[in-house]
Amino acid sequence: MNTPPLFIDNLAFSKKNERLAGTLSLTDCQRLNELLQSAQNNSGAADQISYILQGKTDVAGQHLLLLSISANLMTTCQRCLNEMPLNFNLKFKYLIGDVSDTDVEVLDIDNNDDYDLQQASQTMDLIALIEDEIIMAMPIAPAHDNDCGTLARQSGEKPNPFAVLKGFIKS
Ligand SMILES: [Zn+2]
Repeated sequence: MNTPPLFIDNLAFSKKNERLAGTLSLTDCQRLNELLQSAQNNSGAADQISYILQGKTDVAGQHLLLLSISANLMTTCQRCLNEMPLNFNLKFKYLIGDVSDTDVEVLDIDNNDDYDLQQASQTMDLIALIEDEIIMAMPIAPAHDNDCGTLARQSGEKPNPFAVLKGFIKS
């Protein structure tokens, strides 16, 4: 079941201190889905993404969006090619920039490392934003923490008969 696109007027959202929470599945995030290259797509039941978006206006009158993403995904280990779970708990703070902002204000924003800049938009695509953030958090070559690869790789190889002979000669 696909989630309909979620377009948000992000400036109004933050001014009203609105809050939006929900869950997404991988069918909502096709780019992410392709990236996960899940070998056995076991009905996709394990894959779940939940999010909370909170609008906020701080004491300085800056309009903010706070986004939390919690994702439990299944990908393929690049070493042993077995399934590997990926769990993300991500938090983002966005400062909504007015299109009419001057360069001076942009400089101020750059001084604040805590925030990412988000262009003011009446149709901010929330699902695309969440998907982008997860994709950026993804390891380039996901692999299990333990040394899972050596066994899987060598299991297909036949032992070298000369190596066995060598052992005999030495002893
Ligand atoms: Zn592995």
